[in-house]
Parts: sequence; structure tokens; C-alpha cells
Amino acid sequence: MNPRVITFHYTMTAEDGQEIFSSVGSEPLAILEGNGQVIPGLEPVLSEMAEGEKRRVVVPAEEAFGEYHDDWVIQVEREQLPPGELNIGDMFQAADDAPVMVVTEIEGDTVVMDGNHPLAGHDLTFDVELIGIREATPEEIAHGHAHGEGGHEH
Ligand code: ZN
Repeated sequence: MNPRVITFHYTMTAEDGQEIFSSVGSEPLAILEGNGQVIPGLEPVLSEMAEGEKRRVVVPAEEAFGEYHDDWVIQVEREQLPPGELNIGDMFQAADDAPVMVVTEIEGDTVVMDGNHPLAGHDLTFDVELIGIREATPEEIAHGHAHGEGGHEH
């Protein structure tokens, strides 16, 4: 089967019911099937939905943004980081393929950094509305992403 472009709206909610993100009211998201452009727990659901269908899906942390790893929280010496101002929430990445480390505590010369995704460890609820399904164009397949509304504009 040829890959398809799936266009959908979604609202993402945390365990406590707090809305984290919603595309409703702005542009929907368009993905090229099979390219890992959404979290692992969501793609198979999208693939079996029909146009116009709405679904609520609860995705466990391990199929969303991953489990929370305590050992991805590390302490470093202040001098190991670039000089200049340092604030809680600052982000560092040692290499392109290394995890993004976020500064969570600054205690004298010791800096605590967390390499977990901000949504790691959370089971997330998705309210999905499938807007459209169409066959991907050869160009989209070559690029590995959807074009047009909700996709890449270029
Ligand atoms: Zn492209």
C-alpha cells in the first residue's frame, strides 16, 4: 500500500485533565504515514481511523514521550557549562544526537540537569479528529513528510 498523508486535529491532555496542546482553532497537523512523525502510540490509531471520525485515545508514557528516567538527571560542575548567565530552564545539548538537558537546579557551583522530555512519565490523552486521508505524492514520499496544509511549506 502506498503511504498516505493523514491530516488531523488533536488535543493533548495530561492525567489531571489539564490541556497541554490543541491544534483545534489553528492549522491541523498533516503526517506522512510510517515516518514516526507522531508518538508511537498514536500512529497506529490514526492509520485505522476513517475521515471525519473522532476518537479519544489514552497513550501510556512508554508509547508517548517515554518513561521518566531518574538516572537522566545529572549533576555537573558550573565550570563544565559555557560561561555567562545561567538560569533554571536553560537548555544544553552536547551533540546533535544527544538528549537536550534542561537546567532544573542551581546550587552554588553545582548544576542539576534533566535529560528527560518534559512530558516523560506522563500517560497522555488525545482527542483526535481525522480531517482527511489521501495518497502521498511521489515528492512527499521522497522528502519523508507531508506537503500543503499542516505539512511542510516549501
Ligand atoms: Zn518536502
